Amino acid sequence: MASIAQRRISSCLLGILFCLMGISLLSCSPPKETIYRKSMVLMDTLVTITVVTDSAEKAEKAIERAFGEVSKLDTLLNFFSEKSELSMVNRNAGLSAVRVSPETMEVLEKAIETSEKTGGAFDVTIGPEISQWNFPLKIKPEDESIKKRLGLVNYKLIQLDKGRSTVYLKKKGMLLDLGGIAKGYAADKAVEELRKNGIRSGIAAVGGEVKTFGRKPDGTAWKVGIKNPRPTGENDEILAMVELNDAAISTSGDYERYFILQGKRFHHILDPKTGFPAQGCQSVSIIAKDGVYTDAFATGVFVLGPEKGIALLERMGFGGLIVDKNGTIHTTAGLKGKIEFTTDH
Ligand code: ADP
Ligand code: MG
Repeated sequence: MASIAQRRISSCLLGILFCLMGISLLSCSPPKETIYRKSMVLMDTLVTITVVTDSAEKAEKAIERAFGEVSKLDTLLNFFSEKSELSMVNRNAGLSAVRVSPETMEVLEKAIETSEKTGGAFDVTIGPEISQWNFPLKIKPEDESIKKRLGLVNYKLIQLDKGRSTVYLKKKGMLLDLGGIAKGYAADKAVEELRKNGIRSGIAAVGGEVKTFGRKPDGTAWKVGIKNPRPTGENDEILAMVELNDAAISTSGDYERYFILQGKRFHHILDPKTGFPAQGCQSVSIIAKDGVYTDAFATGVFVLGPEKGIALLERMGFGGLIVDKNGTIHTTAGLKGKIEFTTDH
């Protein structure tokens, strides 16, 4: 809990900074198509919406509506809010089915689909394990306690009834954690809302989950940087730049939330088979049409490791860049020509 509070505060400060930048941008008087950008903290992270349009008024309205969508999802899917649908489902594990909104149903369907495709490497029933770790406080659960809860981690124990719009977790003690998928889903929904409001080009970034559509005012494609998981501080923070054409990109890394104990790195992407942090990668970036899949597959492929991960991405037709545990870079064939490395590798 303390960790979330700390993250929230630092994110808030950042959010305020970006909001001020956003307001100043919005107050420019645009000659033609201009880039407008605004940020705020939602879903425990910084959400930044960028739009290209010819009117400040149109931009402001569309951006507010996009924030509204993300905020709605935050209310439904927040792990820590007692009132969220997610908490209601979790509280009723092993007791009863809970009626949910179409959005919660959809994100769970996509989560289960990703679990099936990744052979269970991605699994939103990871809650009982992840909630035992505290990364800012460097708390690692006892091995015994990790083992004891493994029986509660299994996506096959999630029962969705689409007809009745209900979700039921079959075992008492189960906990859904949508930390590996909800932000990507929110980026999709934000873009959908921008399009509904007449915007033809822009970006929705929910934390590290980025979804782009259309092109920049100069007609070129949006480009997004992929972070170097092990920067040395010598101008090597960005590993590569990727061109995105109506596509999303997500990166899962072992450098986001972690601590080092006796020389070993413990981070927040857990292998559902062991309950321990997955060991094969430093970072995984996925490029595909939908943010919900790039987010979930980045987490799942991180667990699968580079060989199985690249093979799966090729089968799915997704783009992927994996930095493995030794720092070696693996990419899918389709990425060649769309990616520009900024450092030697
Ligand atoms: P971030 O939240 O930093 O963008 P990810 O998208 O990789 O990172 O998601 C990591 C989060 O997903 C963890 O904090 C946890 O809540 C959840 N998680 C961890 N391991 C798994 C897993 N194997 N399958 C599904 N979700 C996971
Ligand atoms: Mg993810």
